[in-house]
Amino acid sequence: MIKNITRKVLREVEETVSSVGICDICGKEFNYKPRGREKIAIYYHIRTGHYDWGNDSCESVENRDACCDECLSRFTQEWLKDADVIDSDSAYIEIHKDLHVLEETDNEMRKGGAE
Ligand SMILES: [Zn+2]
Repeated sequence: MIKNITRKVLREVEETVSSVGICDICGKEFNYKPRGREKIAIYYHIRTGHYDWGNDSCESVENRDACCDECLSRFTQEWLKDADVIDSDSAYIEIHKDLHVLEETDNEMRKGGAE
């Protein structure tokens, strides 16, 4: 899951700090690579659910993030073996490849910035 946290920093500037993305499968941080002043990570957003409950089916929706192909594959295989999924005739899994950008906020990176 990715959470955006607003925190107060020095000089009373409010900034939105995007926190590090964590893989819901292996529990590790996404694989960030530097890109200019930012760090970027490719990850998979996985949504699962089913339509077995009619109008209440929205309650079956679950969201997870996977950091790599291996975690995605591991989750997909476990999902296919899940008894609820086997019993269901409308279970679905959606996979979206996505990019997470982590903005660099430490002082080192701010030197020479706009004053
Ligand atoms: Zn992972």
